[in-house]
Amino acid sequence: MTAGADSFQTVRDALAEGAVGSALKLRGWVQKSRSSGGILFLQLRDRTGTIQVTARRNEIGEEKFASAEHVQVEGAVMIEGTVVADPRSKSGREVRARSLDVVHAGDPFPIFLEQTEEFRLDKRHLVIRSPEHVTTFRIKAALLRELRAFLDAEDVLEMTPAILTGNPAEGGAEAFQIDYFGRPGYLSQSAQMYLEALLFPSERVYAITPSFRAEKSRTPRHLTEYQHLEVELAWCSLEQLMGFIERMMVTVLHRLATTLPKELASLGRPPDELLAIQAPFPRITYVEAIDRLSKAGFPVHFGSDLGTAEERALTLEEKSPIFVTHFPAELKAFYMLKSPGDPRTVEAADLLGPEGYGEIIGASARETDVARLIERLKAIGAPVEEYEWYLDLRRHGSVPHAGFGLGIERVVRWMLRREHIRETTPFPRTPSRHTP
Ligand code: ATP
Ligand code: MG
Repeated sequence: MTAGADSFQTVRDALAEGAVGSALKLRGWVQKSRSSGGILFLQLRDRTGTIQVTARRNEIGEEKFASAEHVQVEGAVMIEGTVVADPRSKSGREVRARSLDVVHAGDPFPIFLEQTEEFRLDKRHLVIRSPEHVTTFRIKAALLRELRAFLDAEDVLEMTPAILTGNPAEGGAEAFQIDYFGRPGYLSQSAQMYLEALLFPSERVYAITPSFRAEKSRTPRHLTEYQHLEVELAWCSLEQLMGFIERMMVTVLHRLATTLPKELASLGRPPDELLAIQAPFPRITYVEAIDRLSKAGFPVHFGSDLGTAEERALTLEEKSPIFVTHFPAELKAFYMLKSPGDPRTVEAADLLGPEGYGEIIGASARETDVARLIERLKAIGAPVEEYEWYLDLRRHGSVPHAGFGLGIERVVRWMLRREHIRETTPFPRTPSRHTP
């Protein structure tokens, strides 16, 4: 029963070219099964895919057939058999079992399609076995891999900043506070300040970390915990940073479209749509965006924040991500560089996903002057002494630099056209739920 791992093949092997006629051993979980006229039809899943297995009573024997008939959905089995051509199945193949051993027959699987969303969230640990989730997480893993490959090729070094912190980077309002041995501590909202410190010795740094936001707003694009890619580049202007972001997005999207075309298509994203995305992306300034929105009937003026509805209106007709640049300073964080030509705005750019999906990246050039940083902190009423270590970075070799944060789940949501961001992560954290 406990054969060595290498003596088993995978569904991928069974579907490989030239596999028809070969004998193999598979193990995995039963997605569905039915029995008719002494033949058992199982849909078997392993980490590489699914394939139909047929087992005949007169081949595997009365006893094993009877126990196999009791295997529930998501029960586990091991089979030995032969790959045969089957024009009726989707893959054109099936495995005809010579023997079938039940590893775990299982209880009746409690997940059905028509159940309420609340029930499905309660049973999230089981629901994530669905083909949609399996494919989504495979694409998400590939996205992380391709981002790392791009950054590595660009000589940007991966860093491991702290997640527990005494300084809430984005301001206290949306930070989760914890008891850190009797003192206030926070869960990181952004690794940016740490990355800025690490940029001085290494010039080009990034981190992929969980970020935590105690978002009160319940929207289909906010989680309270999400995966955050943050990049900081020395000797970099906003213009150069936007060029970097375009190259990164185009490279990664094209790689995903060429390596996982079937997976993307199965979740509603024809890979050609990603291949059609090219640099440079359309760019509009915040002022132009406000103008466009007010012509479309939105009650906006200079200083209005662009929320979900506004971002949706700006991008609904777009096929490519677009940049919105030069936001009013008061809408953005204290560390953003004021625009050289206009003291009202900052050197910031948001990248908005097309088709109404909205912000996927927030980018800016950073303020380099210590006096101006202190002035900005005072203006927002922040406790300057808590930022002393950050201000030190501007006292020792301060240089122009810029960086951005990308929400991994936001990118997946747009790429896979998911209605709600929670479908892009196995155990979504939202204001109403932090379990299972
Ligand atoms: P939003 O206005 O959509 O709340 P933000 O301006 O607060 O976004 P930033 O602080 O710039 O976002 O964070 C950088 C990136 O992190 C965003 O562009 C987005 O992709 C992602 N992000 C921010 N908040 C969340 C969240 N609550 N859930 C998922 N991703 C998020
Ligand atoms: Mg936010």
